[in-house]
Amino acid sequence: MTATQIDSNKMPTKGAIIPAEEEINKTIVDIFKKSLEKKCFDAILIPVRVPETEAYAWVLLKDQSLLDEANPLPPIISVQGAKALRSLTKRGKMTQNIAAILRPCEIRAAVELSKLKQIHLDNISLISIDCPGAMPLSDYLADPEKSKKIYKNVLEKWGEDDSVRPVCHICNRFSLPSLLHRKSVKISPVEQDEAKMPSIDLHIGLLGGNQEKIFLIPVNPKGREILEKLELKSDDSLDLWQTKVSEVQEKKEKIRKEFNLELKEKIEGQKKLTAVFDECINCHNCMRVCPICYCQQCFFDSDSLTLSPETYISRAEKKGALRFPLDTMLFHLGRMSHMVLSCVSCGVCEDACPMSIPVAQIFSLVADQTQKSFDYTPGINKEEPLPLQDFLEDEFHEVETPSEAMTPEEVN
Ligand code: SF4
Ligand code: SF4
Ligand code: SF4
Repeated sequence: MTATQIDSNKMPTKGAIIPAEEEINKTIVDIFKKSLEKKCFDAILIPVRVPETEAYAWVLLKDQSLLDEANPLPPIISVQGAKALRSLTKRGKMTQNIAAILRPCEIRAAVELSKLKQIHLDNISLISIDCPGAMPLSDYLADPEKSKKIYKNVLEKWGEDDSVRPVCHICNRFSLPSLLHRKSVKISPVEQDEAKMPSIDLHIGLLGGNQEKIFLIPVNPKGREILEKLELKSDDSLDLWQTKVSEVQEKKEKIRKEFNLELKEKIEGQKKLTAVFDECINCHNCMRVCPICYCQQCFFDSDSLTLSPETYISRAEKKGALRFPLDTMLFHLGRMSHMVLSCVSCGVCEDACPMSIPVAQIFSLVADQTQKSFDYTPGINKEEPLPLQDFLEDEFHEVETPSEAMTPEEVN
């Protein structure tokens, strides 16, 4: 390992502490203005408030004066950042250096999409930020002014205010430590060096700064290079930030565990799950906004599930009645089986649901369990293969044919 390499299993302990002269947001924006001036990047992808409205949009900025309306942590997620990044690189690699400032769940979705060959991450610097969560879109749209005030409080009382979306309230991957991989991945030795490098280049730490300072944390050599170009030394201690992150992490893990136990109780079993999705109008909004559901033509939107009028009549005859739209549960279970290993619990599906179905909470719970079975955390290591793309002989013996997996006594 050369002097500039960083072992990704270890948390960075040094960074640059930047005092916030005014608002934290302005401090961050000023750093990005300087980064354009110093040619760290050719352009920046960041959420920007749409003029004269309360909406936010992803904007690729080259002109630093346009950064004034940028907000790396807007109160809402209207479009998942990985989706914006996907649109940007859909037709090929970036030829210029781009910085993408994303929340942790957006970074994870972007990394997952790069494994699915939907995003090119070449020449993209991924910059993550401590995330206190986002407000439910419906609350924000109902009263943006009130929501902005609440969100200010959310930023101050990190993790204690439950006005954020339920998946954010229980999010245990809101900061850098949970985004670094801690296990060796099953890939060829040639790729191991690359795999050791974290996917994130630079992290913006807000926790522990009391809104008075921010922590710029280089996570790999590229991140260190960015700080050097900004003429910032990365030799400040990160103890304050780390202590606060661990404190919030501990709280969040506890809340998540309790929340998921309660949710499991509410949805477990066919009857209960069907009842939750009873109000679903099958609009497929949840699928359309999901960063991981990338298929051009979704099977559940295709004609494959459409039957002849006679077949519908005969089904109605058999059952006594037939409810339309059809196949609502089939859609949810099918979508779940297609993408749940890569679900990053970002919550945008729930935000988009017109019927207030807790779809992200359910997907996140199932994702936790499924990902654990494969010892897989999506969006951490871009070199780690997706579990279902990799056949391993030595796993899931319990689902093999009984004669091979169990003794006759066990079968009986
Ligand atoms: S799920 Fe919520 S709290 Fe977690 S990273 Fe995403 S927006 Fe932030
Ligand atoms: S299923 Fe929902 S929570 Fe999971 S990645 Fe898709 S949008 Fe995010
Ligand atoms: S967005 Fe809501 S109503 Fe529409 S399909 Fe998804 S769960 Fe059903």
